[in-house]
Amino acid sequence: MSKKAVVILSGGLDSTTCMGIAQNEGYECYPITFDYGQRHKHEVEHAKQVAAFYKAPQHRIVDLTFLGQIGGSALTDASIDVPDYSGSEDIPVTYVPARNMIFLSLAAAYAEVVGAEVIYIGVSAVDYSGYPDCRPEFIQSMTQTINLATRAGVNEGNLKILAPLTHLSKAETIKLGLELNVPYQLTTSCYRGDEVACGTCDSCQFRLKGFEEAGAKDPIVYR
Ligand SMILES: [Zn+2]
Repeated sequence: MSKKAVVILSGGLDSTTCMGIAQNEGYECYPITFDYGQRHKHEVEHAKQVAAFYKAPQHRIVDLTFLGQIGGSALTDASIDVPDYSGSEDIPVTYVPARNMIFLSLAAAYAEVVGAEVIYIGVSAVDYSGYPDCRPEFIQSMTQTINLATRAGVNEGNLKILAPLTHLSKAETIKLGLELNVPYQLTTSCYRGDEVACGTCDSCQFRLKGFEEAGAKDPIVYR
C-alpha cells in the first residue's frame, strides 16, 4: 500500500511546489482546496488543473465561504482594498484571521479519513508577508495539537505536518520546483483576482522577484 499525503493546495506557486515535492517523495497525494470566499476565487480552478496534472486520485474542494462572515481581511471582505506591495513589516490587510489554523484542522480531519500520514503545507517564513500562521513555531505547535485532537494521533501518534518551503526564499522554491517540473503555468498568485495578474500586490511582487532571482521566466501573464 502506498503512503499517502494530504496536500493543502491553493492553486498558487508554493502549494503547487508542495504537490511536486510530495509526489517526488513517493506519496500518493490527496489535495484539499479551500474556497473561503477569497477575492482571487479563480485560484480554485487553478488548483483543479494542478490536481489533474498530478493525476490525484481524489481532489476535495471544501466550501468555507462562511469565512466572509468573520471578515477582517482584504481577501474576504470586498470593502477592504488590496494594497500594492509596500515592503512594510506590519502584518498586512491581506492576512486572513487564523486561516492556516482552520486549514490545517480540516486537512488533519481529511488525513484521518483517507489514512494519510502527512500533511503538506506550502508556508514559508522567508519571502512572505509576516503572517503569524506561517511561522515554524506555529507549525510545530499545530502538529502537537493535531495529534492530541485526532484518533489518528491517539492510535498512531505521529501525524506529521511537513512545511518543506519554510526556510526557502521564493527564488529557492522556484528553482526546486523547476527541477521537479512543477507546472507553474497552471498556477496563479495575484490577490486581486482579475483574469490577468496585477504585478503590483504583495503576492505578485514576491513571485516576480522570485522568478527573476531564480533566473527563470514566469510563464503566466501580467497586466
Ligand atoms: Zn497581484
